[in-house]
Amino acid sequence: MSWFKFSALALAAGLTACSSSPTGRNQLILFSDTDMSHLGAQSFEQMKQQQKVSKDAKMNRYVECVANAVTKHVPKQPGFDKWEVVVFDSDQVNAFALPGGKIGVYTGLLNVAENQDQLATVIGHEIAHVLADHSNERLSQSQLANTGLQITAVALGSSEYAQYRDATMAALGLGLQYGVILPYGRTQESEADIVGLDLMAKAGFDPAQSIDLWHNMAKASNGQQPPELLSTHPSHSTRIHDLQQTMAKLPNYQTAKPNCS
Ligand SMILES: [Zn+2]
Repeated sequence: MSWFKFSALALAAGLTACSSSPTGRNQLILFSDTDMSHLGAQSFEQMKQQQKVSKDAKMNRYVECVANAVTKHVPKQPGFDKWEVVVFDSDQVNAFALPGGKIGVYTGLLNVAENQDQLATVIGHEIAHVLADHSNERLSQSQLANTGLQITAVALGSSEYAQYRDATMAALGLGLQYGVILPYGRTQESEADIVGLDLMAKAGFDPAQSIDLWHNMAKASNGQQPPELLSTHPSHSTRIHDLQQTMAKLPNYQTAKPNCS
């Protein structure tokens, strides 16, 4: 994007680039779904090359079963056609989802998420970040603050991708893996919790297990560095309280319980 085009866009942003999040919050959205999907897919390919992908067939089947059960109930998204799931062999207690329909789960998470409902909690939360355009929002904010000009070049398919890879990864929520932590904001996290809980319930998973999951996550961090999912997310008691409130308002979905093992 040329500087002139960017300036015009920034000026117009307040009028034309406002969008509404799933919880009705106003969002600044400057990038197209196609650009975001492209960026997500590009980053995902890179991760698959740089990180160890799990070859454990049983584990892959299990994670895919849970992820597919959730994505089956997600309406078709602009910018991509299907969701791809990859299990990464790593002790990290983490998972992520990227624009373009890319889901990554680290094997370390499976020691903390004790059952399919708890795994669905995390996957639902990560998918919710994508559905709510949180990466786009964050990228747009840094763009407007005039700190993300290089990132734009990347988003628009520039050949300079490698040079700005780390900053781009950080904007997508993949900072820890690349040494740049740029967590989602608290508002985005709470929103992902609310939307994610609805997604898992719609898919037939037990939303009450989300409470156990976050308790397990807190336990896992005892005495050591907290798992990234926890350290960049809302405080434990706030989250549990908010989840309970959201749960009380969930519709009574009649979906059959998935059977992933
Ligand atoms: Zn999150």
